[in-house]
Amino acid sequence: MSAVPLRWRWSLWVMAGLVLAYVIGLMVPDSGFNPFVDGFLSMASEWACVAVCWAAAYRAGRGRRTGRGRREGHGRPEVLLAAAAVTANTLGDTYELIQRETSFAAYPSPADAAYLLFYILFLASLMMLVRRQLRGSTTSLVLDSVVGSLGAASLLAVLLTPALNTAAANPASLGTVVAIAYPMLDLLLLASIAGIVASHGPEAGRRWMLLVSGLVIFAGADVVFALAPDLYVIGTPLDATWAIAIALITLWVDRSGAPRSTTSRGTRNVSAVAVPAVSILAGLGVLILASQVPVSGLAVVLAALTMAVATIPLIGRQRVLRVLSRTDDLTGLPNRRAFYADVPGRLGAGDSRRSALLLLDLDRFKEVNDSLGHDVGDRLLVQVGVRLAGALRATDLLARLGGDEFGVLLVNSGHDEAVAVAVKLRAALAEPFLLEGITLHSSASMGIAVHPEQGNDVTALMRKADMAMYKAKSTRSGHHVYQSDDDSHGDVRLRTLQELRTAIADDELELHYQPKVDLATGDVQGVEALVRWNHPTRGLLLPEHFLDLVEEAGLMHALTQIVLNKALDQAALWTAQGEPLTIAVNLSASSLVDRDLPDRVGAMIDSRGLPASVLTLEVTEEFLLNDRERARDILTRLRALGVRIAVDDFGTGYSSLAYLRDLPIDELKLDQSFVFPMINDERAATLVSSAIALAHSLGLQMVAEGVENSVAYNELVRFGCDSAQGYLVSRPVPAGELDVWLADRKVTAIVRGAS
Ligand code: C2E
Ligand code: MG
Ligand code: MG
Repeated sequence: MSAVPLRWRWSLWVMAGLVLAYVIGLMVPDSGFNPFVDGFLSMASEWACVAVCWAAAYRAGRGRRTGRGRREGHGRPEVLLAAAAVTANTLGDTYELIQRETSFAAYPSPADAAYLLFYILFLASLMMLVRRQLRGSTTSLVLDSVVGSLGAASLLAVLLTPALNTAAANPASLGTVVAIAYPMLDLLLLASIAGIVASHGPEAGRRWMLLVSGLVIFAGADVVFALAPDLYVIGTPLDATWAIAIALITLWVDRSGAPRSTTSRGTRNVSAVAVPAVSILAGLGVLILASQVPVSGLAVVLAALTMAVATIPLIGRQRVLRVLSRTDDLTGLPNRRAFYADVPGRLGAGDSRRSALLLLDLDRFKEVNDSLGHDVGDRLLVQVGVRLAGALRATDLLARLGGDEFGVLLVNSGHDEAVAVAVKLRAALAEPFLLEGITLHSSASMGIAVHPEQGNDVTALMRKADMAMYKAKSTRSGHHVYQSDDDSHGDVRLRTLQELRTAIADDELELHYQPKVDLATGDVQGVEALVRWNHPTRGLLLPEHFLDLVEEAGLMHALTQIVLNKALDQAALWTAQGEPLTIAVNLSASSLVDRDLPDRVGAMIDSRGLPASVLTLEVTEEFLLNDRERARDILTRLRALGVRIAVDDFGTGYSSLAYLRDLPIDELKLDQSFVFPMINDERAATLVSSAIALAHSLGLQMVAEGVENSVAYNELVRFGCDSAQGYLVSRPVPAGELDVWLADRKVTAIVRGAS
């Protein structure tokens, strides 16, 4: 009773004291009507209950003032109705007491009207509660309650068979009907509560125990009364059970009047299924019993109804479970299970009897998850699902197969139609996504396998679509239709992995250098070192063909070490030749785990007698955001040595700009995707000039990547960009070629200067 304010507590004690005194008084054997016990104590205890109920209704109506001075509006009509119900019952008892001189031949009396009113008001109170507390799940709750009531009523009808038979034999006896109505209504109340408790879980169950036990006692007394109404005399222990029942109900009303903390909406658990299950058993029991012994017809009808209604929620649940097991939680699309189950039936369906299976995997989704969190990742997946669904026909089957992978089955589609759909889906995903104010660009790689040419069952088609998807990913082509030689792709991968290990041991990696031009002076002061793999049979491989594998094989650490050594050797050579050039080396995001990196880099520079400023390390936004504290630690230590830090591919990561302010950075390298379009897109040009201004305002240098023509070059000069790198100046070339290029450039400059 801790929820009841202190100043109300005394009223509870008074009520409890009066009820207790009345019950004890009833136990004392006496002859007939005792004015003190049966008159004063009975009335005082009952009216005390009424008073407590109305006090609770008053409190509920007033609500509670919260810390912020707001009223937590309760105004709960169910408490008001319950108080009115208890009052109606007490009015009935009071009337009976006043009329006690009258014989029971007058039964049913006006008091019965008051008693019936008690049930109506109480049921209404429960309905209000249910409606408010269980918004959204009322249908199944109502079904549970109905099943519970029917099951319980059928059991009770068995119990009341003698009384019911009397009623049937003597339909004019309104008294019997009224007497039977009481326990029936009690059970209706109880059954509703069973349903509510089942839907609430054990937490609410405990709170409702007062009411449940009150009503059980009430019902018990009613049953005894219904079976032997003639035996009832005022002042017997039967009156004590009613008094205790009303007191318990009053305590429940009192607790309901107290401000609630939170409405517990417990999960519908096993107990939710228990109500219809137990009711079916009860109904079945009654039907079996009816075949053996005479039972009232009403009991049989109720039992049959119980069974019929009980199956509704069970069927509903079965359906819901089936749907849930086939649905992806996040997107609401069919899941992998549903896809595998439904595709076989659809293969070969349709007029042309051709189908295509399309497997779609988002590009760089891991980056979204890692840098912006799973929440944003999830939202992106939901929106992707919506867009894909919007771009497909109603007859196509779309499913989320897991992670960032979606599957589509296109009926009546061959090679060309599938490619057209792939193009359409890519276009649908190309529009930026707006998530919580962040604009995200997404793309996908799709693999297509055509039925029946490339497989007759879902497993074969999935395998081939998967290989085609991998091909699309590795070639960045967006989509790819399976071809027989894709099969060897897996083998090629495995072989390449093996070869990579030997490549590192056998020194097959080499560096090409791409110069960076100072846009103010036109001088070349630095280069970027870019790794190449001189493959014994496949020739010179670009990083895009092996870097992912290096990462996957856990060889990135070794590769970085090789590249750093080679680059610093070259820097030392240039310095020795009197041509000092700074050199930029790329670090992968996985270098973030390497806490020893700063020390090793320091030692490498020292051992060659170079100034630390000769080296720039290029990191990606992914590197910065994966674990910001670790990134800050590593970068701060590198910078303390004198090494410069550049952010590579600036603008392509899903990052907030906050890191620019609090991480130690010297330079930004604006990604090619901003530089390429700036010559014929005014907005792109504005973006570039704004990015340059932003870098400068933060004291950072800006390098533009991918400068392929003089228009872009001149624009960048005009915007005040610091340096440029791109094919216009030079492609990445081996050191020897770069030397020649630099020498030529010098000669050209001298000739220009002379003329
Ligand atoms: P990045 O660091 O952004 O390097 C610039 C890339 O753009 C290089 O590709 C370069 O050849 C290319 N590029 C330069 N100018 C132009 C241009 O005007 N137009 C076009 N279309 N492209 C241009 P590359 O050498 O294939 O390297 C690709 C990426 O591989 C690099 O991008 C870098 O992220 C990574 N990478 C290269 N070497 C290493 C390395 O030693 N270690 C690590 N971890 N990553 C490396
Ligand atoms: Mg780079
Ligand atoms: Mg770059």
